[in-house]
Amino acid sequence: MMNILSKILDVILPPRCISCGKVLNAKDGVCEECFNNINFISKPHCHKCGMPFENVVSNKEIMCGLCIKDKKPIFRYGRSALRYDDFSKNMILAFKFMDKTENASTLSKWMFAAGKDIFSSGVDLIIPIPLHYTRLLKRKYNQSALLAKKLGKLASIKVDYSSVIRAKKTKPQVEFSGKARLKNVKNAFGVKHQNKIKGKRILLVDDVYTTGSTLKECAKVLLKSGAASVDFITAARTC
Ligand SMILES: [Zn+2]
Ligand SMILES: [Zn+2]
Repeated sequence: MMNILSKILDVILPPRCISCGKVLNAKDGVCEECFNNINFISKPHCHKCGMPFENVVSNKEIMCGLCIKDKKPIFRYGRSALRYDDFSKNMILAFKFMDKTENASTLSKWMFAAGKDIFSSGVDLIIPIPLHYTRLLKRKYNQSALLAKKLGKLASIKVDYSSVIRAKKTKPQVEFSGKARLKNVKNAFGVKHQNKIKGKRILLVDDVYTTGSTLKECAKVLLKSGAASVDFITAARTC
């Protein structure tokens, strides 16, 4: 029955490329032309934070300068699927602000592939970066929660939507740069159910990694609440 229904739906509403809108033969994703325009982050990248390296040829696990210097790293590992360029920006902005929620399924598949090292190291719980409730009311959905839900299904890992809350309403990070971003999100998060966090290897999910301020601030409260480790996966990162 579901098969017939999905076939009828494919005729009425055929799957389209999430980037340019062209009708696809495949179930979901992007058309061939768009696929060739996507800058996936692949090795070599920093083994720790996932930052892609330019002009480096290596099959070894190497770290970036920042991670080498960081004596008290907040994250165990971080990975991002795509470089944040004009191309991925369009896909992500449409997903975030223009109700293109169906983009979550393609983006999460890429994130799942990018997070291979993280999943093989063991993850107990996936947590999306929460939105403040006033912003959630305005936007109607939390894009990170949609990504986390799909990722949880692909990895067969539980997703926790309620243990971390956005306690403080912060201004959008795009209005700030550098240290001001850190200040903007300071004390933005709180942990509601500490017992669900304690001893857990947690994977944080967000759409874009820019300076990492939001993810770091959220990770800090999780570690304070006794999380065993915190990783992150984002759909894209700016560098
Ligand atoms: Zn396309
Ligand atoms: Zn690094």
